[in-house]
Amino acid sequence: MTEKGLLIVLSGPSGVGKGTVRQAIFSKGERDFIYSISATTRQRREGEVDGVDYFFKTREEFEDMIKNDQLLEYTEYVGNYYGTPVDYVQKTIDAGKDIFLEIEVQGAMQVKERMPEGTYIFLTPPNMDELEARIVNRGTDESPVIRQRMEKAIEEIELMRYYDYAVENDTVENAVSKVLAIIQSEHLKVSRL
Ligand code: 5GP
Repeated sequence: MTEKGLLIVLSGPSGVGKGTVRQAIFSKGERDFIYSISATTRQRREGEVDGVDYFFKTREEFEDMIKNDQLLEYTEYVGNYYGTPVDYVQKTIDAGKDIFLEIEVQGAMQVKERMPEGTYIFLTPPNMDELEARIVNRGTDESPVIRQRMEKAIEEIELMRYYDYAVENDTVENAVSKVLAIIQSEHLKVSRL
């Protein structure tokens, strides 16, 4: 029987840099793992490709996926749905390949309920001032929205205790090498031999 692949979940508060760290991990190409492409109802941004960055869906299509139990988890985030198609995750793991999810905290907690054997990595900001600076520097939000995002981030950081690992995103390079080290050590666990 093929050994099952690992489920790796990278999560953390809004603005911490999950997307940047994930992209850097995949562009390094050091490990042979598969990125779980999410479904979303948000608008496609310039340069994004359907079926590569996301599966872009209408609200109706997304709600059908919910009804038909096609999502491992989903959440509504800043007015749009985001969710992980369950089939692909399961098939990848069963084929003995690792699957990598980069999702926000509410979704990660749902995955943990269903798949507690996964490896849960929480990306933390160096400190709260730095997180606020990153949210402000994105330049896309007005100040009440920034406040809301900070409050949400504080609530999310409290959920860190449910994760297996905490990785500080001080520099992208450091965070990437820590995440890769975690994955490597998960593979070396005696329980997987
Ligand atoms: P963005 O719109 O910037 O691509 O993503 C917004 C947020 O949604 C990010 O925090 C990202 O990690 C999260 N996200 C992306 N895909 C999923 C998903 O399938 N499920 C959940 N719960 N969050 C997701």
